[in-house]
Amino acid sequence: MKNIKFKESFNNCRASIYKPETRQFLLSRIAGSEQEKDMSVPSNCDGYGRIHHFRRNVDKWVQDPLPNDPACKALEIPYTDLLEAQVFQLASCNVHCWYCFVPDELKRGRIVNAKWLTAEQMVELYKKSDTGIRVIDLSGGNPELVPEWTLDTMKALERNELQNKVYLWTDDTLTTDYAFEHLSKDELSYMTSYKNFGKVGCFKGFDAHSFAFNGKLE
Ligand code: SF4
Repeated sequence: MKNIKFKESFNNCRASIYKPETRQFLLSRIAGSEQEKDMSVPSNCDGYGRIHHFRRNVDKWVQDPLPNDPACKALEIPYTDLLEAQVFQLASCNVHCWYCFVPDELKRGRIVNAKWLTAEQMVELYKKSDTGIRVIDLSGGNPELVPEWTLDTMKALERNELQNKVYLWTDDTLTTDYAFEHLSKDELSYMTSYKNFGKVGCFKGFDAHSFAFNGKLE
């Protein structure tokens, strides 16, 4: 019964941020949001992007090589402890982690703090920003609610001849199987053969209870 309830609610999250007929995705407007107050540099890409600094070494924490090492390896550039990434955020999440730094207003799938964009339009914003940043991070919210976003971004990068210049990075809450439900075999195989792409899966617990507690899914 619980599983059916979750499936319904996850499907609603997906429906709130994806228009399959126009392949538009609802992306959060970072400019003017609570989140922007925590940022070290202002939002960019007309307010729909932000620059994240991935640091290998953080005080009182383990070393974190992601995505620095796979990105540098793929792009054939020197390894670095500090990597800049151009982040875009999908405007919904199906999980409610107690430690989340993204304000609820940017995860509710509402148009008030967001805009419908195709992957092509998003890549245009990235190009226009002209930062020289070579990593695009598809974040959220939960980007895995709409695996079509990653697929379309790969295709848009190819159309713009950026597939070898940009490393595409995304994350996954490991709470849905939408990639297998909504993408065809050919699309999955296209994604697995896309060279400059990496993804991190986030384990939100070590058993059913801790998972439900951390994601407030009880
Ligand atoms: S999965 Fe990520 S975006 Fe969603 S609530 Fe947890 S930390 Fe926040």
